[in-house]
Amino acid sequence: MTFKELGLSEKVLKAVTAAGYTEPTPIQAQAIPEVLARRDVMGIAQTGTGKTAAFTLPMISLSEKGRARARMPRTLILEPTRELAAQVEENFEKYAVNHKLSVALLIGGVSFEDQMRKLDRGADVLIATPGRLLDLFERGRILMTGVEILVIDEADRMLDMGFIPDIERIVKMVPFTRQTLFFSATMPPEIERLADQFLQNPVQVQVAAAATTAKTVEQKLVKAPKKDQDKRAKLRDVIDSQDNISNAIIFCNRKKDVATLHRSLMKRNYSVGSLHGDMDQTSRMKTLAGFRDNEIKFLVASDVAARGLDIPDVSHVFNFDVPIHAEDYVHRIGRCGRAGRDGWAFSLVTPADDRYLDAILKLTGDDLEWFNGEPVEADKPDTDGKPTRQRRASSAKSADKTEDKSASQAEKKPRRTRSSRKHEEPQDAVPQVEKTTAKKAEKPAEEKRRNNRKRGRDEDQDNGKTPKGMGDHMPAFLMQSTRDKG
Ligand code: AMP
Repeated sequence: MTFKELGLSEKVLKAVTAAGYTEPTPIQAQAIPEVLARRDVMGIAQTGTGKTAAFTLPMISLSEKGRARARMPRTLILEPTRELAAQVEENFEKYAVNHKLSVALLIGGVSFEDQMRKLDRGADVLIATPGRLLDLFERGRILMTGVEILVIDEADRMLDMGFIPDIERIVKMVPFTRQTLFFSATMPPEIERLADQFLQNPVQVQVAAAATTAKTVEQKLVKAPKKDQDKRAKLRDVIDSQDNISNAIIFCNRKKDVATLHRSLMKRNYSVGSLHGDMDQTSRMKTLAGFRDNEIKFLVASDVAARGLDIPDVSHVFNFDVPIHAEDYVHRIGRCGRAGRDGWAFSLVTPADDRYLDAILKLTGDDLEWFNGEPVEADKPDTDGKPTRQRRASSAKSADKTEDKSASQAEKKPRRTRSSRKHEEPQDAVPQVEKTTAKKAEKPAEEKRRNNRKRGRDEDQDNGKTPKGMGDHMPAFLMQSTRDKG
């Protein structure tokens, strides 16, 4: 399959060649002809699959007909984070070099003035995070009635970040006759419901299931002490034992640990930068550029800050913490071993992480080995020094049972579920269980919406507190994302 066969315009094909692409990726081969045929598309694909070009390339081709009018964007792309929005803008710059497209980026953390000036002149493409878009809409600075193509990208992330009410509102503002392209890495039931609501007779395109890790990534578990200081020392030991690191992302579950680990590594003269939700936009972009240009070798990051970032050629991923949501493990590991390249992933596992590890093993079906053959405390009963797949599978099963038994409890006690959501997320993010009871809440709709928006804008707020009343031993089902359940 060649790009030429997909039906893209000559000008776009020239830009693709200039970008050095010889062949469309599977998601591009499937989606591009459908977008060009004006079909609605539901794409199940993660970043790293070439998904951005799968929608930007045909959008550029289609935009060759017609012109933008002041304050009336012709196409709208919704992204959950500023980085992703900026990345999509970069894609437009690259693929629309032969076009006179006006692209406006509406993201928080940068001045309104420039953004509004661009809009006033007329934007062919508007790339926005939901909060900033609604702000400008409410100020009467933007009209959505000219939107011909709507892209909702990273829908599952939008759900995680509490953006769904905003998205539903935005969708109501754009014409019913629009073409809609909807992308998500995973398809939990809530996302399926939204896709049903937003898309008309969509064609579904899908690449690799979200629960799979790339075969080119060698994954290792590292026995780690619980105490933070010792854990950091362990991480350095593992890093120093590897002589093939070209660059690496180190993931932490909590924002405050991102900052501490960053400081600690810097003090020891590692080439390090960090990404978390509290940084201003300029520092984030500077750090990312430094990492892409190999000026920074280690990037310490939180999930929300790093999700979906287009960082090619990452050789290593280190999980300083085992992620609480198994899905995040897949996303983190997906940062290396891209496009058939080799990658290495090390996860520091403390005895308290056993249940999360079980969930990861269950989701991925991968057989993970211990670095230097070290088991964690909880695995000690296995005398051969290596925990067996069976042992972990059986403990995963018992976790299942706990979940089943507790499911009805969770429904009855949505508040507890809510407060025990992933550390990284806003404290009051609304999981699905909560949504089913949302009608009972006493807040007026408008106030709820505002709160949701604030949540989204705050991105990965984390006050670092352990959820009240739970102590260290939170039941596993309460730490699971409710959207994982079918
Ligand atoms: P994405 O999934 O959109 O984040 O893209 C991941 C990376 O793949 C980006 O660095 C793109 O520039 C690159 N890419 C996209 N399409 C192709 C292609 N057809 N051939 C080679 N690289 C590509």
